[in-house]
Amino acid sequence: MIIVMERNVDTEKIRMVSLRLEEKGFQVHLSQGVERTIMGAVGERTQAIMELFETMAGVEKIVPIVQPFKMASREFQSEATVVQVGNTIVGDGRVQIIAGPCAVESRERFMEVAFKVKEAGATMLRGGAFKPRTSPYSFQGLEEEGLKILAQARELTGLPIVTEIMDTRLIGMVAEYADLLQVGARNMQNFFLLRELGKINKPVLLKRGVSATIEEWIMAAEYIISSGNKQVIMCERGIRTFENYTRNTLDLSAVPLIKQLTHLPIIVDPSHGTGKSKLVEPMALAAVGAGCDGLMVEVHQNPSEAWSDGPQSLTPDNFEKMVKKIMAMKDALDNLA
Ligand code: PEP
Ligand code: MN
Repeated sequence: MIIVMERNVDTEKIRMVSLRLEEKGFQVHLSQGVERTIMGAVGERTQAIMELFETMAGVEKIVPIVQPFKMASREFQSEATVVQVGNTIVGDGRVQIIAGPCAVESRERFMEVAFKVKEAGATMLRGGAFKPRTSPYSFQGLEEEGLKILAQARELTGLPIVTEIMDTRLIGMVAEYADLLQVGARNMQNFFLLRELGKINKPVLLKRGVSATIEEWIMAAEYIISSGNKQVIMCERGIRTFENYTRNTLDLSAVPLIKQLTHLPIIVDPSHGTGKSKLVEPMALAAVGAGCDGLMVEVHQNPSEAWSDGPQSLTPDNFEKMVKKIMAMKDALDNLA
């Protein structure tokens, strides 16, 4: 529930309400504006509890949160969360572009593509060092060597790096190298992993599970936030439907929905969302139209020879063309606003 305090209430009254909430087993999150203080209280809300707090000195009203998610909800925090990733910011109204190959394949190849996407306008680099592959016989990633290549690419390009974390045992290692830790679609409901990521001081990119509803996905974010880490960025990457012409069905309604229901930034991955390189640009433009805070796009210098996800990877040239259109579209939208 949310406790809205009276205008210009004195700090002693805020302290008393906060203490009483803690006594009743609530976790308290104070949000102090210029005139108004609002308290988010996470715990078991009963009618009696609401009545008790409604009558306390300094309390104007109690607003119950009806959604199952609390700390991620817009009701709990009305201003948008802005997440700092290295020297870049996600959620401040700009569109950040994360680009790079599906997997880090070698130092030479990664550096080449890193410089090309940077020149074309990418603001962050991606590349998997630990890959969640359907077959245990497929390439699984360069592991720590891949992380070292990513960190070197950050040094040389100045761009922050994003890479996937698949297991709690690897959090220390991956967090040492990466600026943003990606939870893949297959791990969206790995609640142990989510809880552990809630204890670190690095932002998390939470991809939507292949069959997750919007609510399940936000609940996954709630796990991370309620464990102590507020730096969560959502990523729509398509869901599995009956349609199989595309690899997944990119659900762009998730963009405005996540913005209405939560205060978290959301980016879109049209590469995994479609599985087809020819569909990446149109869906990226549509995602910007829908109001996303960023895009994550797979780029490979030679998609037909990529070790994973070649069919959905753009060439650096096509990536550059796409970025130009995205920038033009974003400028046009901003000028209308
Ligand atoms: C990826 O980004 O390389 C990836 C494996 O994505 P997803 O978890 O969305 O399938
Ligand atoms: Mn991929």
